[in-house]
Amino acid sequence: MASTRPRDPYEVLGVPRGADETQIKKAFRRLARELHPDVNAHDPGAEEKFKEAAEAYEILSDAERRATYDRYGHEGLRSGGMGPNFEGFGSISDLFDAFFGGGGFGGASRTGPVQGSDIAVSADVELAQAASGASVDLNFEAIDACERCHGNGAEPGTPITTCARCGGAGMLQAVSRSPFGQVVRQVPCDVCGGDGRLPETPCERCEGRGREVRRRTVAVDVPAGIADGQRIRLSGHGHAGERGGPPGDLYVRVRVRPDERFVRDGDHLVTVLDVSAPQAALGADLQVPSLDGGHELELPAGTQPGEILRVRGQGMPVLRRPGRRGDLRVVVNVVTPRRLTREQRDLMQRLGATMRPEDLRSDESVLGRLKRLLGG
Ligand SMILES: [Zn+2]
Ligand SMILES: [Zn+2]
Repeated sequence: MASTRPRDPYEVLGVPRGADETQIKKAFRRLARELHPDVNAHDPGAEEKFKEAAEAYEILSDAERRATYDRYGHEGLRSGGMGPNFEGFGSISDLFDAFFGGGGFGGASRTGPVQGSDIAVSADVELAQAASGASVDLNFEAIDACERCHGNGAEPGTPITTCARCGGAGMLQAVSRSPFGQVVRQVPCDVCGGDGRLPETPCERCEGRGREVRRRTVAVDVPAGIADGQRIRLSGHGHAGERGGPPGDLYVRVRVRPDERFVRDGDHLVTVLDVSAPQAALGADLQVPSLDGGHELELPAGTQPGEILRVRGQGMPVLRRPGRRGDLRVVVNVVTPRRLTREQRDLMQRLGATMRPEDLRSDESVLGRLKRLLGG
């Protein structure tokens, strides 16, 4: 609504104070056609002006409100609780349709084919399946054409006739009251739903609707390398359309279940390998978990805690890049034993006694190692 002082409605419509009902109506119609947002896309102020004209018309077309305005101005209308009343129309376009009858300015007809809605489902896969690619069966409910009548709504073998209520047009004229007086709008026929044709004997399975909800199983190919949350679109696998319209699409949101052995980092996999202090110091041949079950890893002598070893090509496949795979990154966790046997304690003490400060010196600065650990 107007944020500044509302203008004089006579001035807005460009009519004299003594104008009669017909003059006011004519003036508004002319203005409305000029200012309608659909024909005035280039003028950003047109919608505001159209609203102003509609408000002015609302006041002057109602004898009681017009009299109130003539005596007390806009103040009188506000204090009387008779503010503008367009909210029920939703938008200026609706308002215009209500006044001039729907379709006058390119309003869409509601009959004819309607595309079916899209369906969204999710598919859960294991990380190993996301790596290898998998075919997953999805089971969900969807609107389908009725199996018995194949969508035409008629009991098989019975005729389909012209709707008696709308005479086959599919649309009815609905008359209603509005701030502008009586308005006529086109609405879909309530008997045939806009089809214009009706089965004489409705299909007993779908009661003439032609559509029914059915469980459906669709196999979706999850490509190797897919990430959690990615969507796959299956064109034409959504709800069936109406009146011959095409079906909607099926959107499959892939959820990759977490695998406790790995953290995924894009195409790379990260795992943690626990090693003992002697293994880290002396080096060892170890098995690390991999998607293929396990992989040999040579732990070099002198491996430091937190060091990251790279196993090339043992990560996730790169989506839609056959043959390319990320790496497996192995974070070495040197485990300090919590409990020691008498013998182990004895050995540790003897080892400790031989250690000199220079044996603990690292090639890297402490700060450099911290940066590497935190930044990767
Ligand atoms: Zn049916
Ligand atoms: Zn009808």
